[in-house]
Amino acid sequence: MTQSKCPVCNCTKFYVKNPDDEYETYEFECRDGEICFDEDVDEDCPAVIEGTETYCNACAWHDKFDKIK
Ligand SMILES: [Zn+2]
Repeated sequence: MTQSKCPVCNCTKFYVKNPDDEYETYEFECRDGEICFDEDVDEDCPAVIEGTETYCNACAWHDKFDKIK
């Protein structure tokens, strides 16, 4: 299994923001290219596509989602 890592700090946890509420965030890991949201994320998590702004959970890195694949 390959886990996508932050290019800066190698953290495997990322999050995206709710497009309607920037204070609402959704944590996930990316395993074998599959997005795995945390268990405590409810059903209506946002769609993460290649151009979705993705944030590292551990450092200040953020970029488009396709940069971590
Ligand atoms: Zn990082």
